[in-house]
Amino acid sequence: MPRALSFVHVAALALAGVVALPLPVSPSLPLASVLGMSPSTAAADRGVRDPTRGPGARRLPRRSRSLGLPFDGRLRNGVRLRPSRHLRIVPAEHGQREGGDALYGTWELVQLLERAAFRVHQRLPGAQLSVGELSKEGGGRLPGHASHQNGRDADLAFYMLDGRGRPYAPYGFAAFDGAGRGIAPNEALTFDDDRNWELVAKLVADGDARVQYLFVHASIERRLLRTGRRRRAPRSVLNRAERVMVQPASGHPHRNHFHMRIYCPPASRPACRDRGPRHPWAP
Ligand SMILES: [Zn+2]
Repeated sequence: MPRALSFVHVAALALAGVVALPLPVSPSLPLASVLGMSPSTAAADRGVRDPTRGPGARRLPRRSRSLGLPFDGRLRNGVRLRPSRHLRIVPAEHGQREGGDALYGTWELVQLLERAAFRVHQRLPGAQLSVGELSKEGGGRLPGHASHQNGRDADLAFYMLDGRGRPYAPYGFAAFDGAGRGIAPNEALTFDDDRNWELVAKLVADGDARVQYLFVHASIERRLLRTGRRRRAPRSVLNRAERVMVQPASGHPHRNHFHMRIYCPPASRPACRDRGPRHPWAP
């Protein structure tokens, strides 16, 4: 069986009686989980593995709490993001920091990143999601960022292709123009429209973590929405994507990465506080 065959395809073939379903998941798991939807919280709390983050994904403890505001806050029992087959850490975006590195988030944020990375790999195998900084263990002020203080923010590199059209794993964030071309000194790179769209689509449609913001340059947002329409994304996903993608009015134009923020998870309320737009999908 070709490695590129996605989990969903295998499950569909299994349903059709074509192949035996492999067993990266418990046989008792509901079909909805096998088909890439969110498993129920009850199932996850029983310790069932979550196949939507990839076969054999680790269990995530759910004790994290986001406190305060993204630009004046703390993180309790944060979960550390770990590299995997589908996800890597961008080396140059992680300097030496007093008090340790910034790879901690609420479990909702960490599972979202792992789930989105796996989903992009399922749809378009061959690349890893490249992640920059989240929050410090314990949260608090993170030099170089105004926010990133309470485990709800993450910086994500764009998926990109090299001169031969192969996925490229960058050492640092690389900037792109509205035509999808790399900006000097990265003229040899191109913006990977399809993978970046699949990433956005998965982020905005997740059930456990609800995205409030996806900061990105306006020209790149237009490019992504065009790709979504070309890939026949559902209207609801296109609408959400259009509403969460924003170019900040001032400061960093976000030509070289996404900055994502999720809403306060219900378990972190009322100590966690949101500021800014409340979209209909806010928890
Ligand atoms: Zn950021």
